[in-house]
Amino acid sequence: MAALLPSGGRSGQSGGMDDRRLIAEVEARRADLVALTQDLVRIPTLNPPGRNYRALCDMLAARLAPQFEVELVRAHGAPGDSETYPRWNLIARRQGARDGDCVHFNSHHDVVEVGHGWTRDPFGAEVEGDRLYGRGACDMKGGLAASVIAAEAFLAVCPDFAGSIEISATADEESGGFGGVAYLARQGRFAHVQHVLIPEPLHKDRICLGHRGVWWAEVETQGRIAHGSMPFLGDSAIRHMGALLAEIEERLYPLLATRTTAMPVTPEGARQSTLNINSIHGGEPEPEPGYTGLPAPCVADRCRIVIDRRFLIEEDLDEVKAELRALAERLAEARPGFAFEIRDLFEVRPTLTDRDAPVVRSTAAAIERVLARQAEYVVSPGTYDQKHIDRIGKLKNCIAYGPGLLHLAHQPDEWVGIADMVDSAKVMALVLADLLAPE
Ligand SMILES: [Zn+2]
Repeated sequence: MAALLPSGGRSGQSGGMDDRRLIAEVEARRADLVALTQDLVRIPTLNPPGRNYRALCDMLAARLAPQFEVELVRAHGAPGDSETYPRWNLIARRQGARDGDCVHFNSHHDVVEVGHGWTRDPFGAEVEGDRLYGRGACDMKGGLAASVIAAEAFLAVCPDFAGSIEISATADEESGGFGGVAYLARQGRFAHVQHVLIPEPLHKDRICLGHRGVWWAEVETQGRIAHGSMPFLGDSAIRHMGALLAEIEERLYPLLATRTTAMPVTPEGARQSTLNINSIHGGEPEPEPGYTGLPAPCVADRCRIVIDRRFLIEEDLDEVKAELRALAERLAEARPGFAFEIRDLFEVRPTLTDRDAPVVRSTAAAIERVLARQAEYVVSPGTYDQKHIDRIGKLKNCIAYGPGLLHLAHQPDEWVGIADMVDSAKVMALVLADLLAPE
């Protein structure tokens, strides 16, 4: 069942809570915030394959246990879950003194591969000046730590709050979130939640309202194998694919460029429909490593591409699919022997939280109070776990808000700014005060 939208907090009024005390409590925890982020970065929760999830959850559980009820949940049977790489998630909950809304901070604890080009130890969590370096520092262990500090500061100032606070650290966001937020949402773990903040690195003065849609598909052209010296006896799937790629180039790309969105997608280049061709494979398979022979002369009877189509809230997923199919069907009529198949791999509809939603209003007001500037509203070009909270959890009152610069995510020498983490923690603490402090 859909969670009911609450009436919302006081959004901007300081109410019964002294903002300055709360901000001072966060400020006093600066060293603790840095240390917690370091502890998180030093556990290499690499995904794939999904390493050390349990170790991170255990560390965080020990940290939160004095003030929260902590539960570890393994996503049994989720994609990627195995005895070697179990998909562990943590949910911590603190019930307040009286009834009220539930505010949930959700962070993913997995990080992507290290890659090349580092000049720092990717899991050393070195601090230099205002920067804390490491894989996952920005995306998004700094945000996870900031939400913990925000909650602890709020509890110190306002132990008799109304409602409840939840903090989750979840698996596999980088590989679709099926062993993480999707699993928890299917279990109904968001049914009682009214407000969700996902501290992804969108920057401390930005509120991310949602994301564009995604359609991944595999497109195959089919031909007939024959001897390469007599290609006229076969039919080349690669040439058919070439024709399809030409159609995409000449007809589809110009069309996509004309479709723009009212969603405030950042960067601006993503404010239109886009299509990436992820891969192309045709003909003989790649030789196995160590094979020293020559290839065999064959006409390719199969060629496949994988496409990544990102679409706008103004577009319809069925029409997005039909548009590509129509291109292929045109070719099937015009081009002798052209045969194709399109297989869906993955799809996510766009999501966009209303600017008037309570968690948005509350966060915008907190940004103004902490940073003395207006919040900027953005939409992410790619998806993140909000999709599961929206589609499976049926909760629309959800945003991404957290410290860090998105362009540093997945890069070598990834870092998060310490002052940014502190500021974001202050904003999150004020959001808690706005939504949960008793009048
Ligand atoms: Zn992330």
